[in-house]
Amino acid sequence: MPSQIPAIVQDRVSPRAQEYLKKIEHFVETECIPADEVFEAQISKDPVLRWKSYPPVIDDLKKKARSQGLWNLFLSKTHYSEGAGFTNLEYGLMAEILGRSQTASEAMNCSAPDTGNMEVLAKYGNAAQKKQWLEPLLDGKIRSAFLMTERFAASSDAKNINMRMREDGSDLILNGTKWWSSGACDPRCAVYIVMCKSENNKSTEEFKQQSVVLVPANTPGVTVVRALSVFGYDDAPHGHAEVRFENVRVPKSNLVLGEGRGFEIIQGRLGPGRIHHCMRSIGAAERGLEYLIARVNDPARKTFGKSISEHGTIRTWIAESRIAIDSCRLVVLNAADKIDRGDAKSALKEIAMAKIMVPRTVCDVLDKAIQAHGAGGVCQDFPLARLYTGIRTLRIADGPDEVHLAQMGRNENSRAGQLISKLKQQEARREELFRVYKIEGRSHL
Ligand SMILES: Cc1cc2nc3c(=O)[nH]c(=O)nc-3n(C[C@H](O)[C@H](O)[C@H](O)COP(=O)(O)OP(=O)(O)OC[C@H]3O[C@@H](n4cnc5c(N)ncnc54)[C@H](O)[C@@H]3O)c2cc1C
Repeated sequence: MPSQIPAIVQDRVSPRAQEYLKKIEHFVETECIPADEVFEAQISKDPVLRWKSYPPVIDDLKKKARSQGLWNLFLSKTHYSEGAGFTNLEYGLMAEILGRSQTASEAMNCSAPDTGNMEVLAKYGNAAQKKQWLEPLLDGKIRSAFLMTERFAASSDAKNINMRMREDGSDLILNGTKWWSSGACDPRCAVYIVMCKSENNKSTEEFKQQSVVLVPANTPGVTVVRALSVFGYDDAPHGHAEVRFENVRVPKSNLVLGEGRGFEIIQGRLGPGRIHHCMRSIGAAERGLEYLIARVNDPARKTFGKSISEHGTIRTWIAESRIAIDSCRLVVLNAADKIDRGDAKSALKEIAMAKIMVPRTVCDVLDKAIQAHGAGGVCQDFPLARLYTGIRTLRIADGPDEVHLAQMGRNENSRAGQLISKLKQQEARREELFRVYKIEGRSHL
């Protein structure tokens, strides 16, 4: 039984999933983690060439992983008959292991944003769209990007999305600027899943004015303007792109699900995807804690006469990190289990809780690991700085913390009327009991 399965969910993990977990753990520890630095070294230092090719180590890992059946593990059979067939809870445990390495997710064709995009195509695409885009994505031959956020719109409120889409005969014409389109710089990225606002949409319902369209990356009028950096990292050759659309023409048949169905699609896309991000983050935290423990026990590094691990503060950090990681894991698995027992909609509260709690907590664990490494922690000699910056972005990507907190706070607060009346009833009963037992005054309370 792989070590990270909490006892409370053990009976929810099938023997087949347990077998896969063992294989994945072995592959990640022995193949992917050692390949992470090779991946970095194979990215060209030339500012132009670094965007033009992909590190060959990835293709080798993909071949090896696929030959062992470690491929497309994220896709459930509910939406695609050829899916791996794991539950969200089972895949969550797998995603945690993948999150320990920079290369593991792609090696097993389980990396964002492709996983979410493949789910969109599997769930909402028609037969032709599946044939053209889903099949090569599942085969790991191409990659994809999801374009919702806009440079000139506060995009945490997706109703603000402004990219124009108008009909012209049997075609659609798109105009606007997207940014933070992760993966759009990748030379293998062949298709964009784009959220637009329909010019001719007369719906008065504000959640029915957006549509999702498939745009081949090489369509005339599409320009990848630049790559945005994340705390100074350009994440080449994947990249986070600003993409300009100038009179981009695609056939109407590229609409997914139909006009005005955009919100339905993005909601379906983000639910389980958030769980995957959270579980990968927990893998990153475990890795950070491993580095922390190893570093503070390095016999060559003593301060004030003792090993760094013998200082009380450091032991506290180790304990606090273990508590934080194990708590996060339970919160995420609870959300995954709720999705499995119903659907993403019925698990909105649990998903939001995980989405808020995990990146914050993992940032704190990684911060401790960085601190324990002294100056080494912030440089390229350890993976900690990169892990930290990646996880920090998750407090913004897929909706900032504050939006999820506002929504959760509103829902929780809606119990106010019910709670006030319950407290009043208890108060009345208490007064009654005071009278029965002839208790005077309230100083004992
Ligand atoms: C590394 C990275 C990768 C990304 N990848 C993608 C991608 O592939 N595709 C894509 O479409 N987008 C992507 N994004 C964009 C991301 O989803 C958006 O940045 C996010 O939705 C927030 O939108 P915004 O940046 O426009 O912030 P704004 O909407 O301008 O919000 C700014 C801030 O306002 C505050 N705020 C907003 N609403 C509330 C509220 N209700 N209550 C209190 N405070 C509030 C929050 O603090 C928020 O951070 C990525 C972002 C990052 C950092």
